[in-house]
Amino acid sequence: MFRISQYLRELAQAQATGSYPTPRERHAKGPVVIWNLIRRCNLTCKHCYALSADHDYAGELSLPEVFTVMDDLKAFGVPALILSGGEPLLRPDLFEIAARARDLGFYTGLSTNGTLIDAPMAARIAGAGFDYVGISLDGLKPTHDKFRRLDGAFDRSLAAIRHLATHNVKVGLRFTMTALNAHDLPALLQLMQDEGANKFYFSHLNYAGRGNIHRDKDAHHQATRTAMDLLFDHAWAAAQAGSLDDYVSGNNDADGPYLLQWVRQHLPQWEEALRQRLVAWGGNASGQMVANIDNLGHVHPDTMWWHHDLGSVRARPFSQIWNDTSDPLMAGLKQRPRPVQGRCASCQYLSICNGNTRVRAQQLTGNPWFEDPGCYLSDAEVGAVSTPFETPANKHARRTIEIAHV
Ligand code: SF4
Repeated sequence: MFRISQYLRELAQAQATGSYPTPRERHAKGPVVIWNLIRRCNLTCKHCYALSADHDYAGELSLPEVFTVMDDLKAFGVPALILSGGEPLLRPDLFEIAARARDLGFYTGLSTNGTLIDAPMAARIAGAGFDYVGISLDGLKPTHDKFRRLDGAFDRSLAAIRHLATHNVKVGLRFTMTALNAHDLPALLQLMQDEGANKFYFSHLNYAGRGNIHRDKDAHHQATRTAMDLLFDHAWAAAQAGSLDDYVSGNNDADGPYLLQWVRQHLPQWEEALRQRLVAWGGNASGQMVANIDNLGHVHPDTMWWHHDLGSVRARPFSQIWNDTSDPLMAGLKQRPRPVQGRCASCQYLSICNGNTRVRAQQLTGNPWFEDPGCYLSDAEVGAVSTPFETPANKHARRTIEIAHV
């Protein structure tokens, strides 16, 4: 996750005081764990990475098993749990899990489609002490209902935001941009402000692109740059106004270098200070400071790596699985710098973005260390040259792959 507002608030402070603030130290030892507690969902969205449906899935972790894993996560220094699904509110014991998480001192987020949150459920969520609730919106009503394949889904999710707001629950909108909903982004940013939501999570499509990428001409990359410019403008206006509204992005760590370029253009006196902050952030954290446990208890480097199984928490504690670098992918993800290839290897921003989202390279070429085809910065910007990868071995894989966060 790239915390746009955090950096822009620091820049606003620097502008106001004349000196760049000293960043807070990060103390967490373990990764943030995104935990898909249940695969069942009441919706069947077009872009669901979990391929969920409205039926039970056999073999999911029981409540005692979840508690055992939580104890291990706590001892391992995991600071935060993001409880997700499927639709986590369909798990009958969700509130027992949330209570345990709160008792153990985890920062606890809930990632939901919002359609099951009526007034009583909002009160229950507030009472459970969730630190944050993220509600997915794919656009305004026509777009969202089409994506979610349910008439009325938008109205129900919007009602959820309002119900939660009455209980002062910190709530955010989660938006995954595609070519089919990019036009709704400005209106959703306005909706965030109108509805008093506290956070806007912009998720890039996990887009793999084509064989020989012309980033300067690619419509998707251009749309991404336009969206990021809009987010930066909103976040900068909020920061200057002293607002604590958060704008964050995910699934494309080129956002860090792109913000650096934005600062070079708008606030050049702070470019070097920001560069140091971004290097300290360190870019993509899959397999390092972000982890995923799926509904069956299998551990993955992040939610986009469900096809890569690191082991089950039923067989070994998460802490052991996570520290085990006998898996070549995990060894590479934890390496610094990562063993990336192509233009990522000689990119001037590698120390900031950490080679970005490896799953895109793996999905498109079969090689997880190939340059990220989803990077929207031009060769001139990164100071390196793209590598063609249209070989006979991967030609059949030349297609657009769209995998998205929900
Ligand atoms: S070229 Fe690679 S290392 Fe450089 S910004 Fe893009 S994804 Fe990151």
